[in-house]
Amino acid sequence: MEHSTAKSAEPHLLRARRLLYFGGTLYLLWWAIVEAVLPGSFNPLLSRLAVVASFFAFFAASFFSDWIARNLLFCFYACAWLATLHYFYLFHFNGNDVNWVVGSYITIMALCACLESLEALTWFGCFVTVCSLILTYFNPSLGNTVFLPGMITILAFAYVGSHRRLKLMTAINRQALMLEDLFNSVFEGVVVSHQGTIVNANRSFLALLGYEKSEVLQRSIVDFVIPEEREHVQEQLNKEQERSYETVCLRKDGSTLPVEVLGRHHFWENKKLRITAIRDLTDAKKSERNRIMLEASTEALKLSDEFIMIASHELKTPLTTIQLQTDIARHRIASQDGSLLSFDAVADLLTHLERQTKQMIRAVEDMLYSSYLTLGTYRIVPELFQLSDLMKSSVDSFQADFEQAKIPVTLELDSDVPIRADPRRIEQVLLNLFSNAVKYGAGGPVRVSLRKNGDRVVICVQDRGIGIAPEDQQRIFGRFERAVSARKISGMGLGLFICKRLVEAHHGTIEVSSHLGEGTQFTVTLPLSMS
Ligand code: ADP
Repeated sequence: MEHSTAKSAEPHLLRARRLLYFGGTLYLLWWAIVEAVLPGSFNPLLSRLAVVASFFAFFAASFFSDWIARNLLFCFYACAWLATLHYFYLFHFNGNDVNWVVGSYITIMALCACLESLEALTWFGCFVTVCSLILTYFNPSLGNTVFLPGMITILAFAYVGSHRRLKLMTAINRQALMLEDLFNSVFEGVVVSHQGTIVNANRSFLALLGYEKSEVLQRSIVDFVIPEEREHVQEQLNKEQERSYETVCLRKDGSTLPVEVLGRHHFWENKKLRITAIRDLTDAKKSERNRIMLEASTEALKLSDEFIMIASHELKTPLTTIQLQTDIARHRIASQDGSLLSFDAVADLLTHLERQTKQMIRAVEDMLYSSYLTLGTYRIVPELFQLSDLMKSSVDSFQADFEQAKIPVTLELDSDVPIRADPRRIEQVLLNLFSNAVKYGAGGPVRVSLRKNGDRVVICVQDRGIGIAPEDQQRIFGRFERAVSARKISGMGLGLFICKRLVEAHHGTIEVSSHLGEGTQFTVTLPLSMS
């Protein structure tokens, strides 16, 4: 609880300073009045100076000494006692002048009004009574006046009057302390500002940012935000934003702190104050990051499971066909059926096996290449070549597949199109597009074109097949994304993903335009030179 004593000492300190300051000034004024009203009375300058100096000396010392600052109220009481003593000293040497009797009443009343507790008043009352008795003892003629009963009456009135005042003050003080303690105990950091300048900050705010209270008071609220966020926070202050927003605070040690800020306005003594609560988001951000990482790894696991399933299916289909073909051949050999072992039959079998093997090789290559692309372990090796030649040879290498699917292919190629690119990768893109035209072309004609357009080339592969629904047209370029069921047409959803990555690696673009049931056109645009 040491905290609250230290914090709550602040208003006390201010009040004690004010008492000392006014006490010293009043005593100074008192002299001036005595000098003017009672010229020639006993009033030695040095003793006056000593009393006034005592007030101002404690006032000044409270700025330098912690001990004096902590006990400043007692210092004031000491000064009050000293002033009283001094007054009686003057009284004594002024020969019981009636003016000094009146003056003593005024002095004692004024000092009683300044005392802050009943205890202090009781002690002061005793002190004044003793001083008055001593004075009467040394000035017996005073015994014949109303001085002593008057003084005791004044003390009694002061006690009765102050009793209520001090009780009220104690209650108010306690309430203020309680509110201050509550303000400090709020879990969130709270600052009170006036026109952007901090006028109060609670303990949580100071602890969050690592400052002392004196280091934040009277500073702009935006000083405690990282430079990149200052404009944004200033904007919120200007807008008098009352909705929560996130920002990043700057701690005293230079580290940063993500926070959520909620501000409200409050009118107090005609001043528009802004009360801002600041909540530390470090833990929330950490758990959010963990959640995202967990989601990402769950997604990655799901994706890899899906991939294993699709890849196994994709490899199993040709393997099963191969196994079936070899079983049939073995059976025929065993039955020694000569007609079934003719050259034609063997050639047929080999063509079959070759097709299945090719399909498997393509699937494995796709898997391998999609991993290269994802991990970034692939290289584009550009060289200058004739794109029309490459396209012709790619169509030729795919001719068997087109023929087998009974698909007529039309070529419309600009003849002289030298390009600087990686020919193996461009061929890979073309073969993927041809393969899709065969798979999804529904046996319709396929048109392959190449056009030079300024410093770019435009390649189109168009079929009259099943088409792609509009909502799937962007998605299909993603990894493992497909727009048909695997049961209808097999595939791994890797071909277009590979095409897009390879085309983009050449600083080109790939687009699709398609209508369901009417056909699809893929358009690849490449720069003539990659650099
Ligand atoms: P895969 O063909 O192995 O499924 P791709 O990445 O090559 O993988 O194609 C992704 C999806 O895009 C395909 O599953 C298919 O639904 C659709 N698609 C690709 N090309 C065509 C096309 N020419 N016609 C219709 N749909 C196509």
